[in-house]
Amino acid sequence: EAKRAGGAGYSVFDPAMKLRAARRATIETDLRGAVGRGDLAVAYQPIVSLASRQCIGMEALVRWNHPSLGSVPPLEFVGIAEETGLITELGRFVLNEACRACVAWKRQFGAHAPRSVSVNVSRAQLLGSDHADHVRQALASSGLDAVALQVEVTESLAAQDDRVQRSLHDLKALGVTVALDDFGTGYSSLATLHLLPIDVLKIDRSFVMQVGSSDHHRVLIEAVILVARSLNMRTVAEGIETEEQATALTGLNCDKGQGYLFARPLSREAMTAWLDARMRPGGWP
Ligand code: C2E
Ligand code: MG
Ligand code: MG
Ligand code: MG
Repeated sequence: EAKRAGGAGYSVFDPAMKLRAARRATIETDLRGAVGRGDLAVAYQPIVSLASRQCIGMEALVRWNHPSLGSVPPLEFVGIAEETGLITELGRFVLNEACRACVAWKRQFGAHAPRSVSVNVSRAQLLGSDHADHVRQALASSGLDAVALQVEVTESLAAQDDRVQRSLHDLKALGVTVALDDFGTGYSSLATLHLLPIDVLKIDRSFVMQVGSSDHHRVLIEAVILVARSLNMRTVAEGIETEEQATALTGLNCDKGQGYLFARPLSREAMTAWLDARMRPGGWP
């Protein structure tokens, strides 16, 4: 074993490392043009009101079905897309698809349709000089109301960066709402939250996972929800997998929830069928 012989470091002959490097190179090469080839898709996951269990929003999540690697997780290629600048093209694709899907659901399901669609936006996208233009164009060409679009940025990205904050203000000027994603994993504190132009706080799954079993986590979530409310922000709990977690979060006055308990991310067609089934008698939870 190369690993053992190499001591603390890794030998360049480590076969696992070689495989990883090759996979990364493949991803980097093939991501270029993946949009044009139609290999990217958008999956949708419902965001439900915890009080009524009604689906009130959808999060758009990019999917890549690679011709030979199969389904590649976003956590593996979004970072590479950022490093290579491909995130702009990828981001525009997701944004346009998400706006169109939301408009189509509103037409089909009327008052029962999800009210908004959320799109993840990374730092490189946000700092691109024409990001707000891309958003404006996506809204105009789809016909989606700006209030029905939510942009999700991660906590570590938004904290203490003037340029990021300026572009968030540009988006807010369009009427788009902003959510702080993965809250609790980054570096901003409760004390600096009021500095950010944030409408919604998404509590990270790592806290939600333990809400039913750990007093410590329950107390932390309770504090986050209280602060968010006092700052006039709504709260969404991410990654709810059990009824116990949903009940605990409802008791803590968390507004909304998202997670496998309600639905996994599904293709647009499958999500349309899911929404349709919920509208039939007895389909409502
Ligand atoms: P995120 O924005 O925090 O999205 C939530 C992730 O948690 C998604 O993973 C979703 O499938 C997963 N999830 C939802 N409910 C549950 C649950 O109950 N249990 C568990 N274990 N997981 C759950 P996914 O789709 O793999 O995306 C991972 C991350 O990749 C996203 O985290 C987001 O940061 C990034 N990402 C996804 N799509 C895009 C995109 O279009 N653009 C950008 N810039 N980033 C994206
Ligand atoms: Mg997100
Ligand atoms: Mg998240
Ligand atoms: Mg997350």
